Amino acid sequence: MTARRSRIGLILTGGTIDSLGLSRLDLGWYIEAGLKLPAADLLARVPELDAIADVEQVPFRRLPSHALASSDWLDLLRLLETLLEQDGYDAVVVTHGTNTLEETAYFLHLALKTNKPVVLTGAMRPASAVSADGYLNLINAVRVAAEPASHGRGCLVVMNDTIFDARHVTKASTYRVEAFDGRDVGPLGFADADGRVVYYHRADRTERAGGEFALAGLEVLPRVDVVVSYVGADGAMIRAAAAAGARGIVSAGTGAGRPTPAEDDAFDEIHRDSGVLMCLCSRVGSGRSVRSPGLARRGFVAGDNLQPWKARVLLSLALTKTAEPDAVQRLFDTF
Ligand code: GLU
Repeated sequence: MTARRSRIGLILTGGTIDSLGLSRLDLGWYIEAGLKLPAADLLARVPELDAIADVEQVPFRRLPSHALASSDWLDLLRLLETLLEQDGYDAVVVTHGTNTLEETAYFLHLALKTNKPVVLTGAMRPASAVSADGYLNLINAVRVAAEPASHGRGCLVVMNDTIFDARHVTKASTYRVEAFDGRDVGPLGFADADGRVVYYHRADRTERAGGEFALAGLEVLPRVDVVVSYVGADGAMIRAAAAAGARGIVSAGTGAGRPTPAEDDAFDEIHRDSGVLMCLCSRVGSGRSVRSPGLARRGFVAGDNLQPWKARVLLSLALTKTAEPDAVQRLFDTF
């Protein structure tokens, strides 16, 4: 008996993969030029996908990834829920600009309740470029999505033949094709030259967190800002974020997560006066930020080894339900 072909939804959210440059060597200015492939063309240019699965494109808006807002995330989430829970798709591949791909991947990873594969991919070179990488990335993403072993691993990111988990993946180079890495834990596996998908690790923390958040009817997520610490930071950015309506602030602290004394004063002030929830992370890019007894007393949550902009996603989702520091810390310790 032959196995049933996977039915895979394809959502294009924009970015480099379906952008066009002004010439075959335009590897840098194409986002400013704003030229895009017609919506159906990316799929049409990769007929090889037909040998892997039934891939059906589902319409969505296409934007540079740094232009996305939380309203776009919520719309994307609802579309994915419909495709996977009601319309019977076996998996979904999402193409995305690489600049914020990791944030969308972690948002979907946290908010979705499905065990079906959801795979994000993108490109470092536009579709018109010499050695464009997007076509093979798309093929590899579909291979990963169609692979039974991809179930139950949370959202995955496939770039440059490499499979990453949504929690750890991060963009680590501005222009290299090998732009992404898995930080402290490395890649999960590869979509390799023989056409096979091979896994070597199973990421932990792939339990579905979706039930922990109150997203029904929401049009935007609670505002959370990230404030980077540096020599002489005086806390003005922290007070400004609170004045702009932030309900949470992530500190990208120095070292293991140290804001300056003036920033600490500002954090204590806004927590006391406005109940703003504070999360401590590090600007270092690797390793954990931990919750010392003093931080716990002051109402700080520690972001563990999350990049500050990913801690921002979890904090914002958590704030849909609670601003109680110990309850939010439990989420950070679990997901
Ligand atoms: N490499 C592109 C840029 O920085 C990525 C665009 C995107 O993320 O949408 O312009």
